[in-house]
Amino acid sequence: MEKHIVVIKGDGIGPEIVTEAMKVMTKTAEKFGHTFHFEEVDAGGCAIDKYGECLPQESLEKCLKADSVLLGAVGGPKWEQVDKNNRPEKALLRIRSAMGLYANLRPAKIFPHLSHSSPLKQEIVEKGIDFVIVRELIGGIYFGAHETVTQQGEKRATDLMAYSEQEIERIGRTAFETARKRGSRVISVDKANVLDCSRLWREVMHRLSSEYPDVAYSDMLVDNCAMQIVKDPSQFDVVVTENMFGDILSDEASMITGSIGMIPSSSLGESTNGMYEPIHGSAPDIAGMNLANPIGTILSGAMMLKYSFGMQQESQAIEDAVSKVLDEGFRTGDIMSEGCTRVSCSQMGDLIAARI
Ligand code: NAD
Repeated sequence: MEKHIVVIKGDGIGPEIVTEAMKVMTKTAEKFGHTFHFEEVDAGGCAIDKYGECLPQESLEKCLKADSVLLGAVGGPKWEQVDKNNRPEKALLRIRSAMGLYANLRPAKIFPHLSHSSPLKQEIVEKGIDFVIVRELIGGIYFGAHETVTQQGEKRATDLMAYSEQEIERIGRTAFETARKRGSRVISVDKANVLDCSRLWREVMHRLSSEYPDVAYSDMLVDNCAMQIVKDPSQFDVVVTENMFGDILSDEASMITGSIGMIPSSSLGESTNGMYEPIHGSAPDIAGMNLANPIGTILSGAMMLKYSFGMQQESQAIEDAVSKVLDEGFRTGDIMSEGCTRVSCSQMGDLIAARI
């Protein structure tokens, strides 16, 4: 197969980690007889510096035409004072929205070699952590009207949360289909005891669940879910939830796995292209030092092969190579522990590519 992949290296550690992912993906393509054409485009802080805007039209058009998009990270202290509509992070919201990427899949999985890095007690970790959060990505309160008005000398702010049945149904389907490829269990998370949006969410999810009798379905309130993730994460397989709840719960879920540098994510829509990125930010504190952990970005590349290109074996080859390198005791600084060999960002990429 021949694939055209748009690459947004972005800011901070973005260029370092994406370079390593491209190295591993190129090796995988060679090994399995594919050709990946990578095209770099500017978005985020670096685009503000070059063009005065976080997402030049040309970059967006290239993303829309690509077979898939790989992103490092955007943002940093340098652009904190930029107008809120031109902040580096706005580039991502615009790309997701223009590409119609309504589903964000974030795995929370503990690598056996790194179980001691989890802040949870070992007896909880030993029961296993392996679930996916399916977060609605382009609706809800982040996309509703935001307003701050001054009334009688006092400021008052409102943010509107809205969901339609169709928006809920399409993310619900993603969750049920994802569960069919995993452990066949879906837990839908809402705040139906308080919010109308959540009551509609629950109604639609129940309706949908009758179409998937092979998938075990239940509801959970978001406050309980936040507790259950730290109390007994082994109970979860697929968690589906709206945008803001998903934002918060997926950060909590990644935290319990021990390293922010290890976790990939995918954002998908109706078509097979999509955007793939590690869950962490641009890590300005270690940018340009060749210290970053590229594994989250490398595994994002593996997710792209699986979900956008249907390359199951190729994706598995990358996951196996990562496991092998960890088995052999190689670690970047963020996951370093006694008795292991410390390597740089580029060395980690070389080691993984060599094991494909
Ligand atoms: P961050 O994820 O960049 O960093 C948090 C901590 O984790 C830092 O100590 C950092 O060194 C470490 N870290 C992160 N990724 C790492 C990796 N791959 N290897 C080793 N260590 C790693 O979060 P932050 O400091 O809150 O944000 C920094 C900037 O990134 C901000 O401008 C923020 O807006 C932006 N951001 C961007 C995205 C994105 O592009 N999707 C996501 C989150 C934050």
